Amino acid sequence: MSESKKDLEEFQREISHWLKANKPADPEFLLPETFMEVGTDRQFDFLRNWQQKVYEAGYLGMAWPEEYGGRGRHQEYQNIVNREMAEQRVPFVPNTIGLNWAGPLILQRGTEADKQKYIKGILNAEDIWCQGFSEPDHGSDLGNVQCKALKDGDSYIVTGSKIWTSLATYAKYMILLARTSNTDSNKYAGLSFFLSPMKVAGIDVQPIKKLTGEYGFCQTFFNEAKIPADCIMGNEGEGWSVAMATLTFERGAAGGQAGGLSMMDLNVNDIVELAKHSRRNGQPVLDDPLIRDELVQLIMDDRSNRLMSSRSRIPALRGERPAAVAMSGKLRGSELKRRMTKFAISLQGANGSRYVGSSAIDGGRWQRSYFNSFSATIGGGTSQVQKNILGERVLGLPKS
Ligand SMILES: Cc1cc2nc3c(=O)[nH]c(=O)nc-3n(C[C@H](O)[C@H](O)[C@H](O)COP(=O)(O)OP(=O)(O)OC[C@H]3O[C@@H](n4cnc5c(N)ncnc54)[C@H](O)[C@@H]3O)c2cc1C
Repeated sequence: MSESKKDLEEFQREISHWLKANKPADPEFLLPETFMEVGTDRQFDFLRNWQQKVYEAGYLGMAWPEEYGGRGRHQEYQNIVNREMAEQRVPFVPNTIGLNWAGPLILQRGTEADKQKYIKGILNAEDIWCQGFSEPDHGSDLGNVQCKALKDGDSYIVTGSKIWTSLATYAKYMILLARTSNTDSNKYAGLSFFLSPMKVAGIDVQPIKKLTGEYGFCQTFFNEAKIPADCIMGNEGEGWSVAMATLTFERGAAGGQAGGLSMMDLNVNDIVELAKHSRRNGQPVLDDPLIRDELVQLIMDDRSNRLMSSRSRIPALRGERPAAVAMSGKLRGSELKRRMTKFAISLQGANGSRYVGSSAIDGGRWQRSYFNSFSATIGGGTSQVQKNILGERVLGLPKS
């Protein structure tokens, strides 16, 4: 299905107008920067209402099938919405795990009943999703997860714990990787994947305080929690392949996400403004040639990063290593954000150490952003693990 340039331009005007008219007013409390930092009910309610409004207006899940609650339109419409949302800096939509990885996974691998049951609730934010992969001793080493799910008639009995579970306090469902059998010869073969309900006796969620002082993720304890046997995705023992498919959505290496913003994008222009207003020895720091050099480099890196998705669509630029751009997106984006926020704090001189209180510049926004910038370099696979993956799968280097 190809869309005419005229239709797309007209649509761009429509969504631009809609966002201007409907962008929520400043709530006058601090909003989180990403779904991994939603820590209070008022933050959550505000963001959920926003997602509902965007969905009801028809601007979420635009390329998902109509029979499950999507809009059945061409992906390019959703791309336009996503770009306009970033441009107009509207709040993000909070059901990120549902919209961007559980949802596409269910559409790709779920049964007809799964699609009917879960997709609409993901889109309209009625059903929030969380992800139960990491455990206290098994994060990067995901293949070794130890949380057990043992079949008992029409149920599985789950025992163990998951950690760093973002949004778990609000979640109705979890994508859960658990061990259904012990196989000494192949640890992956004992894993199974569940679309598990969260509101079940024996599941206990304990929020964890973060470096920023906020609560965004949790430890989730399973104490002989009984979940329905039919919430398994695929067959017993196929969990590793489903988990790997999930990670390709999570890391942006596969398309099919419902769209919408999942985090507030850091804008390099804000750093330029900060540099104009910050002073060192009585002079604007922007007048310092070394600072200008570093700033220009960041502007170039930011611009080139934003152009990557266009680049990946040009055959001559992706021929040699077709997966490189998609597979490196998370690493590039998260590391750049960390550099940008660190640089922004360095502009503030001694004041850079103030995070809270009236003397913190911009209300401590940069410090919070810097602390939070580490999240994306860890969650979904650390930067070191991403480099291993690129080395092995893109450059073809040996595993050890
Ligand atoms: C903000 C945030 C939100 C998160 N949300 C979720 C969530 O919702 N659900 C969920 O399941 N998990 C979540 N996580 C957990 C995240 O996926 C793990 O923290 C991550 O996979 C790393 O695992 P780990 O913490 O056990 O560290 P480890 O695996 O113990 O790693 C420790 C260090 O060793 C390095 N390392 C490990 N293995 C290798 C290797 N093979 N080669 C080179 N270096 C290596 C790592 O890079 C890291 O520096 C979240 C994490 C954060 C920070």
